[in-house]
Amino acid sequence: MKPSPIRTTCPYCGVGCGILVSREANGWSVRGDPEHPANRGRLCSKGAALAETLDLDSRLLHPQIEGRRVAWHSALDTVARRFREIIAEHGPQAVAFYVSGQLLTEDYYVANKLMKGFIGSANIDTNSRLCMSSAVAGHKRAFGEDVVPACYEDVELADLVVLVGSNAAWTHPVLYQRLAATKQARAQMRVVVIDPRRTATAELADLHLPLAPGTDAWLFNGLLAHLRRAGGLDWGYLQTHVEGFGETLAAVERLTLSEVAAACELPEADVATFYRWFAQTTRSVTLFSQGINQSSSGVDKVNSILNVHLATGRVGQPGASPFSLTGQPNAMGGREVGGLANQLAAHMDFTPETIERVRRFWRAPSMATAPGLKTVELFEAVRAGDIRALWVIATNPAVSLPQVDHVVEALRRCEFLVVSDVTARTDTARHAHVLLPAAAWGEKDGTVTNSERRISRQRAFLSLPGEARPDWWIVCEVARRMGFSSDFAYRSPAEIFREHARLSSLENGGTRLFDLGPLASLDDVAYDRLEPLQWPPTSRSVGTARLFTDGRYPTPTGKARMLPIQPRPPARRADTAHPFVLNTGRIRDQWHTMTRTGKAARLFAHIGEPCVEMHPRDLAEHGLRPGGLARVYNTQGEALVRVMESAAQRPGSVFVPMHWNDQYTARGRVGALIGAITDPISGQPEFKHAPVAVLAYAADWQGFLLTRHDPQAICVDYWARVRGQDCWRYELAGSLAQWPAEETLRLWLGGGRERIELRDPAAGRYRAARVETGRLQAVLFLERQAAALPRRQWLESLFARERLGEDERAGLLLGHPGRAQDSGGIICVCHGVGERAIVAAIEGGARSVEALGLALKAGTCCGSCIPELRALLTRARVPETTAA
Ligand code: SF4
Repeated sequence: MKPSPIRTTCPYCGVGCGILVSREANGWSVRGDPEHPANRGRLCSKGAALAETLDLDSRLLHPQIEGRRVAWHSALDTVARRFREIIAEHGPQAVAFYVSGQLLTEDYYVANKLMKGFIGSANIDTNSRLCMSSAVAGHKRAFGEDVVPACYEDVELADLVVLVGSNAAWTHPVLYQRLAATKQARAQMRVVVIDPRRTATAELADLHLPLAPGTDAWLFNGLLAHLRRAGGLDWGYLQTHVEGFGETLAAVERLTLSEVAAACELPEADVATFYRWFAQTTRSVTLFSQGINQSSSGVDKVNSILNVHLATGRVGQPGASPFSLTGQPNAMGGREVGGLANQLAAHMDFTPETIERVRRFWRAPSMATAPGLKTVELFEAVRAGDIRALWVIATNPAVSLPQVDHVVEALRRCEFLVVSDVTARTDTARHAHVLLPAAAWGEKDGTVTNSERRISRQRAFLSLPGEARPDWWIVCEVARRMGFSSDFAYRSPAEIFREHARLSSLENGGTRLFDLGPLASLDDVAYDRLEPLQWPPTSRSVGTARLFTDGRYPTPTGKARMLPIQPRPPARRADTAHPFVLNTGRIRDQWHTMTRTGKAARLFAHIGEPCVEMHPRDLAEHGLRPGGLARVYNTQGEALVRVMESAAQRPGSVFVPMHWNDQYTARGRVGALIGAITDPISGQPEFKHAPVAVLAYAADWQGFLLTRHDPQAICVDYWARVRGQDCWRYELAGSLAQWPAEETLRLWLGGGRERIELRDPAAGRYRAARVETGRLQAVLFLERQAAALPRRQWLESLFARERLGEDERAGLLLGHPGRAQDSGGIICVCHGVGERAIVAAIEGGARSVEALGLALKAGTCCGSCIPELRALLTRARVPETTAA
């Protein structure tokens, strides 16, 4: 009998989609859970490819000390002993944990408890600092607590959806699909996208406002001023439920439409349209994300958005609310346990009363009494030697932080660095003194909370490989060895969850909305069966869809607060030496530093190399060529990436994805270009605005290597490692001095000297293929002129053959069989449909996304490519028709 599918949750973005995993004859299969309220059966391209990421290739399977495999007890003893010694000699502020929104709530809880209650420092911060902390601070200032009042259903109930600083089509694809489906069904719904780039999300927009980077607070201040002038304020709500509105309205009353339009570099008519729609539409939801948060004035930007929703009474109402989208699967869970250094636990800050309360509850011998260091400060303290022992859990700061070269220096200098991870080789792990193998998705059990406060279970369906262990177990074993046995003697995540729930309701009395009291009595079976529910629960099975519905807020007066916002420009401006503004972010099919999505070949089909997106006018003015290579640099550092032409960019702005790192390219870490500039309240770095210069990289030669065997060590100026279906692809470029010698050719191609070769030194050409018993092993093409290189698709397809045919063998060094057409860059990764095929279908009469689906299957699986299908239809100037 086929076992029933396991119900679990996607480990990627904050949408928190439910997943059904089943064992099939040919391996694991993954599909969307139709009963999960977040996704109702949908999955995006990343979630749909999860089954391809389950192999043990690249996994860390055994504890290591200084690169040598050791037994668990030895690794744990060493970690506990070194932390104890450093604390004894230098005090508790000399140690720190840096954790992650990838952790489950139970893992997070024990790490926070150990650091803040038993070590006696609050130096535990999470990578959510990089994506969410401005929203946290904004919520606390306005609402009195870090609360997202809305739910996903509100996006479907709204008549106006405003997306600001959010490319949801790529970063929260399933929520975007829900929005797109609703918009198609409800003609009266309007969508406004506010983003300097015309992203895939803007394909759905009735109005796109490509505002100047960093000017969001001007736009929302102007909206507030307009609402007042146009009679759009809800005075009854303001007088009953809000304080601070007098000063806030006074601060914007002189702001005119033309001043806003000038500050934001937008046409006045477009700003007026947005303001009119917002004023007229009671049911309006504003979705905001990293484009707002990742700024040196991120908290103020958040409050400028919350101000307009408070001023109109549109908070926590069906189809009317501000709505912060979280980036990671459990960024919210981290916020709930107190994983940020400036929070204590369970939505309690550091006050004498709360410190005492938590001390009693934990029976804590050594309570932290003040906030710890926020991420950027924390790594600076490591670099300065003030923090001597650091434990990094489930994250990769050597890639993801600003000023990564300083971070790498900090990791190198750190007296004692422990890294818990699922992946053996990461940019961070290479500096660790102790490596601890953690359980991965599919192997671990616990809970996560998504953007709409919905707590869902992640359930294990795989046994633990090698000696991998869950993070909660690892933390507790170290705690026990540090002398805290009885307080960390948990036997299961369920036990930890119950304690977390009890703490949330301790002496709460309605003062904190985060209260999981009804879940504190779940037994193990009930915990295992826990259905997704939104906190705060009113019973063990009923959650709360919306908060602040009655206009009461968890502040001393019970009222929300509006704050006068003085807009500030980004900390650093472009200048003649660095004329472009760099924006960073996610692409559609990769996740964070690619440790997991890098395992699925189809997720490289959309964008396979690190790149810089630039407007065609900027390319022309700076002598750059689409498809060429460019150095993106500033005083911080440099990246070497592929140039992508994109009319979606604002002239003067460039975009570089955040994912690439030293495991996948030579110099692609965008963090090297970002300064350590943070919001003064939240400590969130300004990832969206760094002045840079872009210069063409003049390669003496370019080429590519396709190989079954991954050589890993490539030493040329540019290489990018791309996982294909049956081979690895390396894109290569270098100087004359880096032209590969025979020894290098052997390393790249493998085997001895037996290979089919074409050498033409005068033309700067080298082509080679190695075939063993009829099976292709490797192909290498190097050319002085990149234009002479063939497309890779046909050659890559030959790696699927058990034996090459005569025609195929004959075409090897040509790079094509002489007659095949490739399908262009892949747009639909689920069905492998390329751009050329789509354009041909459009030219052949396909007039809608649905028609393309019927003709090619494109867009019919996860739907992540639908915005790009729409863009191709628009580009072909084909008005989309609605399917009958
Ligand atoms: Fe996972 Fe995609 Fe759903 Fe996000 S939208 S949770 S990445 S399936």
